[in-house]
Amino acid sequence: MTSAEAPPSTGHVSGLGLDDVRVRFGELAAVDGVSLRLPPGDVLAVLGPSGCGKSTLLRAVAGLEPLAGGRITWEGADLARVPTYQRGFAMMFQDGQLFGHMSVARNVAYGLKLKGVRGAELSAEVDRLLTLVGLEGRGDDVPATLSGGQQQRVALARALGARPRLLLLDEPLSALDRDLRERLALDLRTVLHDTSTTAVMVTHDRDEARVVADVVALMDHGKLTAFGAPEDVLGPR
Ligand code: ADP
Ligand code: MG
Repeated sequence: MTSAEAPPSTGHVSGLGLDDVRVRFGELAAVDGVSLRLPPGDVLAVLGPSGCGKSTLLRAVAGLEPLAGGRITWEGADLARVPTYQRGFAMMFQDGQLFGHMSVARNVAYGLKLKGVRGAELSAEVDRLLTLVGLEGRGDDVPATLSGGQQQRVALARALGARPRLLLLDEPLSALDRDLRERLALDLRTVLHDTSTTAVMVTHDRDEARVVADVVALMDHGKLTAFGAPEDVLGPR
């Protein structure tokens, strides 16, 4: 490539970019200068002890916490002036926060309807998503009749239905018991890879990070202390 063809010096970066991101709560530097890159299609796990700033970092990416410094970019474009609902990101939490009065199918349809999907295409897409998360045929059930793990699968299907450019997961499995968590972690990996979903998952469970993630970030006191392949950051199993 000649210099005339070189990209602009701002450097177009595909996927998610964090440059010296800072979030403060008064005197507390909850996120203290985090920089990283996440290419499209990759799954990043953010690991660290309780209170180290994982959720705050995720919320900053979602546009739910104002930055005290630094930059968050998507495909090289600064998101500073892009509100949460225009970022095209979806979030999923520890408690999937399903609509209890709606059937499983209507919960999953919710994100699709926001995207303008209607009619036969809508029901076909709901069925596809329910099959993807292993809940084929459960569309007419109400969330209260499902197990915790099944409810998280519905929440995942609903989040994927919004066809997010980036899926943000805050301890999505931590409310579940150990056995179920291990199985669901494997399923989560499969679903994210099969759908080529770019994702950032917060967890405090190293095994979960190993199973789900392509790349792992360790945080401590608001700072990134390690970043790389799971086996490099976490060591061999
Ligand atoms: P983690 O998700 O890693 O457990 P958090 O990002 O939730 O950690 O919190 C990081 C630090 O910021 C903690 O000390 C927490 O008490 C503090 N914190 C989080 N949210 C707020 C808030 N809205 N106001 C004040 N302090 C907060
Ligand atoms: Mg948290």
